[in-house]
Amino acid sequence: MTPPTPPQPLLGMKPEEIAAVFAELGQPAFRAKQLVEWVFAKRAASFDEMTNLPKATREALATRFVTRSMSIAKVTGSADTTRKFLLKLHDGRYVETVLIPANPALYGGKSDRRTLCVSSQVGCAYDCKFCASGLAGFTRNLTAGEIVEQIVLVEAHAGERVDNLVFMGMGEPLANYSNLTKAIEILNADWGVGIGARHMTVSTSGLAPQIKKLAEFPLQIRLAISLHGATDEVREQIMPVNRKYNLDELFEALDCWNAKRKQFLTFEFILIADLNDGIPQAHALAKRARAANAKVNLIPYNTVEGLPWVRPSEERQDAFLAVLTRAGVTATLRREKGHDISAACGQLRLKQETELGIIESPIPEKRITIGAGG
Ligand code: SAH
Repeated sequence: MTPPTPPQPLLGMKPEEIAAVFAELGQPAFRAKQLVEWVFAKRAASFDEMTNLPKATREALATRFVTRSMSIAKVTGSADTTRKFLLKLHDGRYVETVLIPANPALYGGKSDRRTLCVSSQVGCAYDCKFCASGLAGFTRNLTAGEIVEQIVLVEAHAGERVDNLVFMGMGEPLANYSNLTKAIEILNADWGVGIGARHMTVSTSGLAPQIKKLAEFPLQIRLAISLHGATDEVREQIMPVNRKYNLDELFEALDCWNAKRKQFLTFEFILIADLNDGIPQAHALAKRARAANAKVNLIPYNTVEGLPWVRPSEERQDAFLAVLTRAGVTATLRREKGHDISAACGQLRLKQETELGIIESPIPEKRITIGAGG
């Protein structure tokens, strides 16, 4: 037996889909427009608020759709720092969303921009060795509505609009391609959330075929690559996905991307002591960055409990940066915000789901606590 379909979040629907529902209900088209306004422009959190729609219509809608499908389970951090939101989904699973108040160095953002780091999946299948998100494996894709709802919930909670979106939360966005691109269309649309495409960055572990596909996507979004290794030999130890799509395949896909796009690519490169922080890696990275015309974000590794690696000294970090800069590569060293609140993605959710017994802690000796190593 197939389980009943859960009520659909209206935040994941485009006007044409809403119009089709109203046609089916035998309702005039202007009513569909009214609903779109309630959902997006007025951000109605309940059907009761939609006072210009007939009561019977609202009741009919409420049997099939929901205005909200998730709730804020926990907020850490404060208004002038990085705030992390743990969100509870309709099926009892959790994802994280991180609000970063001012972020001068990131993605062409200005210093007064509020950036939201959004999740695209519950868990992750790619098993990057530095990351807490994949520690307990992959559970499911988020729907387009669940992706959009993260922004809507955080904006309502914070009482302010978000200017920049980065798909760098839990999950691999390009492994959830159709829901991701639908969410981006809704987030970008004037009738939707109204965030400029150039202020949205999709970050990927390097799924080469999907990068080529995304190059054809009409909205001018930005792309960041989680590189973390500048040679196959080093990258393979950090990111198993490199065995599926090695650096040559990845860079061929990036050529396709660059052929279609004017914006600079970004390479994310986490510096991990004695693994990828040596001077030869810095030279290899400089060469790769020049070949792909990419800017580089260096991120000192955040300790994840249960994982063996450590952050290099600041001198090592600075020496690595200096190689890139001298080679003419635009590079920043991002001394992480939110280090104290588990801002490395996936850690809060892992702790929550472990404590609730939804998943077993993947850390054998430490079955419960995931440190606040951020
Ligand atoms: N799957 C996508 C989106 C996840 S974002 C991708 O791989 O790009 C992944 C990013 O989160 C990394 O590039 C890094 O910037 C950050 N990150 C995750 N774990 C981290 C850690 N332990 N320390 C520092 N940054 C981390």
